[in-house]
Amino acid sequence: MRKHNLGAGPGVLPESALQKSAAAALDFNNLGMSILEISHRSKDFEAVLENTTTLVKELLGVPDNYSILFLQGGASTQFAMVPMNLLHTKVAYIDTGVWANKAIKEAKLFGDVNVIASSKDQNYSYIPKDYSIPTDCDYLHITSNNTIYGTQFQEFPNSPIPLICDMSSDIFSRPVDVSKFDLIYAGAQKNMGPAGVTLVVIKNDILKEVQRTVPTMMRYATHIEGGSMYNTPPVFSIYVCMATLEWLKSIGGVAAIDKINQQKADLFYNEVDNNPLFTGTCAKEDRSRMNACFLLKNPDLDEEFMKQVKAAGIIGIKGHRSVGGFRASMYNAAPLESVKALTDLMKDFALKTA
Ligand SMILES: *Cc1c(COP(=O)(O)O)cnc(C)c1O
Repeated sequence: MRKHNLGAGPGVLPESALQKSAAAALDFNNLGMSILEISHRSKDFEAVLENTTTLVKELLGVPDNYSILFLQGGASTQFAMVPMNLLHTKVAYIDTGVWANKAIKEAKLFGDVNVIASSKDQNYSYIPKDYSIPTDCDYLHITSNNTIYGTQFQEFPNSPIPLICDMSSDIFSRPVDVSKFDLIYAGAQKNMGPAGVTLVVIKNDILKEVQRTVPTMMRYATHIEGGSMYNTPPVFSIYVCMATLEWLKSIGGVAAIDKINQQKADLFYNEVDNNPLFTGTCAKEDRSRMNACFLLKNPDLDEEFMKQVKAAGIIGIKGHRSVGGFRASMYNAAPLESVKALTDLMKDFALKTA
């Protein structure tokens, strides 16, 4: 039996995608070869890449003047690639936690970084709202969902300068107006597939040549021109993404998953707010629908709670070391039943502990 996987990442994948991928790993398209063994220049893989690109465009509603790239090195490589390619003199960042900070650290290697807002003063438990966006910066960078702290931008800033977003942990979880962004990137392993591939959605005309020398593999232009095939792409990771996005399409796409994600989040946060033993850690209006951080009011009960969580087949809810407590990650492929297994347990735990 499958566990109730509420881990923060790599996250749970749809069972249909796992089955399809397992079959392709043994014999792909009746070729007598595994997908792991075929040329990335073969017609069969070209079709996979094309299908995956089409699914991304369809499901996200990507306008025609954007390119879809499948790169390697994780979102963490994008922290550097973004400023390397797009920072001319000065850029603006919003600091909403660990990942935003890592992005800021890399940008500082290439120029002036103006951190225009931060929620560090309250351990990143909210999304900053009062700030003005300087028009003399090359771009504004935000992190749409803060995986570790459990906050999420409910509305995106109207930016007068190019807007760049790390959507690693909430891409495909809700409708997004892609035309508001000049570049979106996401490591696949939270919500769209396995580790090993990073999605980049980039507006084609954002690329004004920078003065600095950028290594070939680190240039967006290389990958746009090469159609993500300048070098060997992560063939199998892309295949699993395709199978995952096919599942998403089959259940009704982003509009449908948006409703399901809301149901899961409502179920969970209602329990946290009404259960006398637990409390949430974030400002209610900024709560993430993907990663819910919560605490036992009495930490002496932590150990017993975790024991029961484990016995119930629930996996991955220990909080990140920088926040403590617990975190339930409710990514697209996490079924409502898994969230319900956790809320049932919390109810039961309160009854027994009273
Ligand atoms: C997981 C995560 C990352 C790091 O992704 P890697 O692919 O491991 O580099 C970056 N940003 C956010 C928001 C994340 O959730």
